[in-house]
Amino acid sequence: MTFNEFGFEPGLLEGIMAMGYETATPIQEKAIPVILKGRDLIGSAQTGTGKTAAFLLPLIQEIINYGPGHQVKALIIVPTRELAIQIDQHMEGLSYFTHVSSIAVYGGTDGSSFMREKQSLTDGADIIVCTPGRMIAHINMGYVNFSGIRFLVLDEADRMLDMGFFDDIMKIISYLPANRQNLLFAATMPSEIRTLARKALKDPEEITLAISKPVEKILQLAYSVYDSQKIPLLKFLLQSMKLKSILVFCSTKSSTKQLSRELKNLGLPVEAIHSDLDQDTREKVLNDFKNKKLNILVATDILSRGIDVENIDMVINYDVPHDGEDYIHRIGRTARAEASGVAVTFINPKEQYKFQVIENLLDKVVHKATVPVQFGESPVYDPKKNRKRTDGRPRK
Ligand code: AMP
Repeated sequence: MTFNEFGFEPGLLEGIMAMGYETATPIQEKAIPVILKGRDLIGSAQTGTGKTAAFLLPLIQEIINYGPGHQVKALIIVPTRELAIQIDQHMEGLSYFTHVSSIAVYGGTDGSSFMREKQSLTDGADIIVCTPGRMIAHINMGYVNFSGIRFLVLDEADRMLDMGFFDDIMKIISYLPANRQNLLFAATMPSEIRTLARKALKDPEEITLAISKPVEKILQLAYSVYDSQKIPLLKFLLQSMKLKSILVFCSTKSSTKQLSRELKNLGLPVEAIHSDLDQDTREKVLNDFKNKKLNILVATDILSRGIDVENIDMVINYDVPHDGEDYIHRIGRTARAEASGVAVTFINPKEQYKFQVIENLLDKVVHKATVPVQFGESPVYDPKKNRKRTDGRPRK
């Protein structure tokens, strides 16, 4: 389906063309007509499916229809600064040839960004993309006027709830006019999302798009290894594959820092990105990675949601992700849009059972590659046997 078929304004079509989009992705095909009809929507779609444009395009079109005015008309609430910036960048590209304005309100450490956000909020940028905490800070200052809001988008709502933002979201919603259109996107639909949807949405239409299944184009591999084999094997993979863009995931901030230090000591072109870095440094590292000036990026899960980088050749899970959704989000960083990619997971004996649970969830057995002999004997992959009880004894 081409974008001409949605009845978009010429200016918006020009923006779509400038972004290089030719045909609508499945989520766009399904969601855009529902949103243009004015219906509330729950969309289950993982990132990488084109869901950002699926809600931005109809919002921009509706705001064009509405005409210019100095009031905030749409509020998009997202879990992380990185995602806010990414959506704002999409917005800038898509709305470039229209009068629709936007600003990302995610906080920085300096007072000038707060003042700039305040200015846009009071002048009435058409679309605000915000993180919950920062928006509450502005609301508490008393100058935010949301009486013109017509649209609310909750993006990656499952992640926002995981991060404990339920009350903040409800507080923001309490400042919005009751008469508005609501769109909620999430990769998973746990019961808390249903509760949020019941409180915030009105008779929503539901769209599910291949929930929880990683895109077919990703080649998934796993190595059963001891912890001591992880760095040598990682170094071997990084050096032998000569790839331009590799994203390595660790579960914790401290392991992210430690791993990037160790890889740097090996002379590899690597940087880490985690929540301890200030905003400017994070953006610089991300930009360098985007522009392929930096080949290897080590990151934590929280940040995996905000990394929209094209042509990542390989994702490496240095440890097994916490659950299936994190696994999908991590490996979904490769094979974005039309590209293909490789996702490799390192599994130590203690993680074998966790990995099998993920495989069951995906309904897929990931190929276990043989660890090259120079790394010594590797653990046998036997998740049942390695399923430990909490007291450390194997289960019967
Ligand atoms: P998202 O799922 O919104 O994070 O989008 C994933 C990637 O696909 C982004 O880099 C988008 O710019 C890109 N994209 C979105 N819609 C389309 C489309 N219709 N055609 C080609 N690429 C797209």
